[in-house]
Amino acid sequence: MPREPRPDVIAIDGPAASGKSTLGFHLAQLLGYLYLDTGCMYRALTLAAIRQGVALDDGAALTALADRVDLDVLPLGDESDGRQYTVLLDGQDITWELRLPEVDAAVSQVSAVAGVRARMVERQRAVGRRGRVVMVGRDIGTVVMPDAPLKLYVIATAEERARRRLRDRLARGHDDNDYAAILADVIRRDHIDSTREHSPLRPAADSIIIDTTDRRVDELLDEVLSLLNEVAA
Ligand code: C5P
Repeated sequence: MPREPRPDVIAIDGPAASGKSTLGFHLAQLLGYLYLDTGCMYRALTLAAIRQGVALDDGAALTALADRVDLDVLPLGDESDGRQYTVLLDGQDITWELRLPEVDAAVSQVSAVAGVRARMVERQRAVGRRGRVVMVGRDIGTVVMPDAPLKLYVIATAEERARRRLRDRLARGHDDNDYAAILADVIRRDHIDSTREHSPLRPAADSIIIDTTDRRVDELLDEVLSLLNEVAA
């Protein structure tokens, strides 16, 4: 029997700092697929709202901003500063600004707005329809790409996730780090993301759960590559 081709949309969801981006990025590189981290789109909109003074509790204004924002996500070029992609807002590179604590603090509020989600999901589906993509977020398997042939839901303990966030921040030279504050932010964001009315964070019925606590990236990649072969068999 000839084998079906590999699934060409891979949906990866999970809570903050669960390891889904690292896994998704390496997987996309191995397969030669596009990598789309949808969190960066909500982060970019949040940064735009902060910069333009749009009130974070004004859903209509945030939705209008989502309509007019000039946002681009470009695949990795020859940059060597640890980025996985480049995000442009009005043509300006904001890739690292997206990780600022003020963006962390506000993004879950912005992404809970139904109008904002509708605009972002439309853009994400347009990318998904082109195929050969690994898409990472909170609602990819449930809402954005519910027909994706492979859906992963990536988890890790909150403490492990906070340690990873702290390590990333140290590696980027931030010295204002406080483990307890990072842990509190991770838990707070998970709570908002999983209890919101629109597209809450949860695994799809057919998601495969991957626990990344105490596991190396190469081990996880091997596991996912064998899952891919099973789906294709
Ligand atoms: O994955 P990351 O931590 O960058 O996502 C930032 C925030 O964007 C999440 O906490 C969540 O509020 C929102 N998000 C979302 N839906 C997605 C991706 C991210 O609501 N598909």
